[in-house]
Amino acid sequence: MEIIRTVKRLGEVTDTARDAGKSIGLVPTMGALHAGHRSLVERARADNDIVVVSVFVNPTQFNNPDDLRTYPRTEEADCRMLEDCGVDYAFIPSVDEIYPETDTRVFDLGPVAEVMEGAMRPGHFNGVAQIVSKLFAMARPTRAYFGEKDFQQIAVIRRMVEIEGFDLEIVPCPIVREADGLALSSRNVRLSPEARQIAPKIREILLSSLDLKAHGASPLEVAAATEAAINDVEGLDAEYFQIVDAKTMQPVNSWAEAGEHGSVGCATVYCGGVRLIDNIRY
Ligand code: AMP
Repeated sequence: MEIIRTVKRLGEVTDTARDAGKSIGLVPTMGALHAGHRSLVERARADNDIVVVSVFVNPTQFNNPDDLRTYPRTEEADCRMLEDCGVDYAFIPSVDEIYPETDTRVFDLGPVAEVMEGAMRPGHFNGVAQIVSKLFAMARPTRAYFGEKDFQQIAVIRRMVEIEGFDLEIVPCPIVREADGLALSSRNVRLSPEARQIAPKIREILLSSLDLKAHGASPLEVAAATEAAINDVEGLDAEYFQIVDAKTMQPVNSWAEAGEHGSVGCATVYCGGVRLIDNIRY
């Protein structure tokens, strides 16, 4: 595995691969890699001739400076994992390499980016669009891999791809969980032992919301009961729980409204001060 630090070198190796008719799989990450990232990398490895994994803590998508400052950084361990997965290129640039000048682009992401994470984290999705569009322009991948843990992010990236006219396939990958149901996240290392005990309740409550639906509750009833159930757990504090159309990210009033792509319930929950996200398909 080659570790690439410059945009120039990334362009060289991906141009060479493309000229040779090889497919290129790109997995964008912010490092502190875990089995969730690994699943994306393995999928990319299975689908493509060349696999590029980027490891870059993108400052423009952090709306909270403390979150950026304390974001876990584990480059050596990340490289070992990527090597072990058979990755060809780890792209690990500096902030100056990616942003030699301030990126002032404002993307017209529309309604998908206005709700939930978009409403709670101003500027977050514009920062995501900035970095992902740069990575797509630099590597020009055949396919790019994203986890469904960040469900809304995938909808936003699809919108960015549409705006920018990138010719590539976005491949969504299922959420990888701990044995007790907690969705893997780089931020889980911040959970205290007590919070770590409580956190799996989020998944349990989301799963029980399926029963409410099965018993005839409407999306709004399920959403209200689920948010209340989360807040009833001592140590959990729901920022929001919304049931939305899995494509448009807009709230649904009836299950039928979402059509064939279905609905998804998206939760953001503070657990011992750590902001966790999870979701469930209906
Ligand atoms: P991050 O490093 O947190 O920006 O995540 C990089 C990619 O890994 C994103 O596409 C995430 O959605 C994905 N990812 C993070 N956690 C998981 C997980 N538990 N299961 C599946 N994909 C994940």
